[in-house]
Amino acid sequence: MNIAFVAAEVAPWSKTGGLGDVCGALPRALAALGHRVITVSPRYRDYPDAWDTGVRARIHLFGQLHEVGFFHAAAAIDGNPCHHLFVDHPSFRRSGIYGDSSGAYGDNLFRFALLSRAGIEAAALVPLFAGTNGPEPLGEEVVFHVNDWHTALVPLYLEALYRPAGRFQRAGTVLGIHNAGHQGNFAAHKFAGLDVSTRWWPHLDMDGQLNLLKTGVVLSDKLVAVSPTYAREVCGELGFGLGGVFSSRGRDLIGIVNGIGDDWDPGTDVHLAQTYSADDLSGKLVCKRALQRELGLPERDVPLLALIARLDPQKGVDMVMQVLPWLMQQDLQLVLLGSGNKALEQQMREMEWANPSRARGWIGFNEALAHRMEAAADLFLMPSRFEPCGLNQLYSLRYGAVPVVHATGGLADTVETVDPARDRGTGWAFRQYSAEAFGEAIGWALLTWWRFPDAWKAIQQRGMRQDWSWTRSASAYERVYGEVLGRRA
Ligand code: ADP
Repeated sequence: MNIAFVAAEVAPWSKTGGLGDVCGALPRALAALGHRVITVSPRYRDYPDAWDTGVRARIHLFGQLHEVGFFHAAAAIDGNPCHHLFVDHPSFRRSGIYGDSSGAYGDNLFRFALLSRAGIEAAALVPLFAGTNGPEPLGEEVVFHVNDWHTALVPLYLEALYRPAGRFQRAGTVLGIHNAGHQGNFAAHKFAGLDVSTRWWPHLDMDGQLNLLKTGVVLSDKLVAVSPTYAREVCGELGFGLGGVFSSRGRDLIGIVNGIGDDWDPGTDVHLAQTYSADDLSGKLVCKRALQRELGLPERDVPLLALIARLDPQKGVDMVMQVLPWLMQQDLQLVLLGSGNKALEQQMREMEWANPSRARGWIGFNEALAHRMEAAADLFLMPSRFEPCGLNQLYSLRYGAVPVVHATGGLADTVETVDPARDRGTGWAFRQYSAEAFGEAIGWALLTWWRFPDAWKAIQQRGMRQDWSWTRSASAYERVYGEVLGRRA
């Protein structure tokens, strides 16, 4: 199949969160399965590994013609190349992706409409693949996988501009929903700049404003949220006003849990004091002692609890602070890593000062420490208010750090509460969002750790042996693309 990812972020070139990770990893996993795959994202700065293809496209938007260029980098996995294209235009070359310290950029509608148009043009114009008569572009029989509101105009442009001109007749569209909390809202008068007939206005209109996510939800062939539970949740309150629009898509809206990268494997992780596996967990204890030494905690055999998160209200770190007085009366150690909200950062400092032998709060972003914490931890806390997919609980399962999570979104889909009677479960997922329910779930985990070490080990091993690889997710996406292309054939 021919697959074109169009996205505001593609890691490692650009990333603010999970969107960038998915659009970096999933295309490569699909290329490794033998598909022809490109990604199209902005050239926010000079990328040393990306070269000018010399291909240019001229795009009419906001009353003017704009010329864009395409830069190219290729990554090969098992000899299967994934092609990464970067759209070159002055409006993308800023310090931030969506905005800076003064807020969102005022011309974001233009910037992301331009990216959406350029994504379509790239598939038709940039010769990257070996054809019978020399290099050829991806082509017009293609699935466009567009992501969040930023590229949700792709299906609109296909319908409004290209198909009426006889082009892209067999192209299909899949909209990836990574976070429906951001929808791309703009003043109605800007509609004129988009260069489509006013008969398309109802597809963009949400309470008298432009809503780009709505357009994508209405016009894409299929919608894929980043977990099955999140796919249901966006049909209600977590659709942030678009619940009804999401639910009107019925069975065309599904969920597929993201994968995790090869760099998160305790058997090969370069950051660890000692690697380990589900069959031999001895290295995990070495990692625990190493982290205790590194952080100046007593090298004792007590449960070590960890949390790694952006300090954003979404992540529920305030919930940890609510149960902290009780936690600090238990014989355990607690390590938090995160940055963001200043009040929470201060609470982390105070937690450490008040409990020097039990708690550490590391403020900042530290990838290597995050790996070492997953390896050292017995329990991993993730009390998110909502979580479209979540990655840390997947890392935790992989690393034998038994997760205690709020049963929402991807957390509900990936962590099964322990049932001792049936030897099942990989962690604890609490349903009601309250400090009591969170504390109770931690209490069950601690009791199991202290009293039933064999059961604990079995819980760890069940989690570690699950497959959360991108290959698994990529096969699920393959089926979706096949269905979309089948409909258009
Ligand atoms: P989100 O995308 O909402 O931030 P996810 O759980 O999907 O949440 O992914 C967050 C990623 O960022 C994980 O890889 C996590 O380990 C990492 N991360 C978050 N905060 C930090 C931090 N302070 N230091 C290191 N890694 C962090």
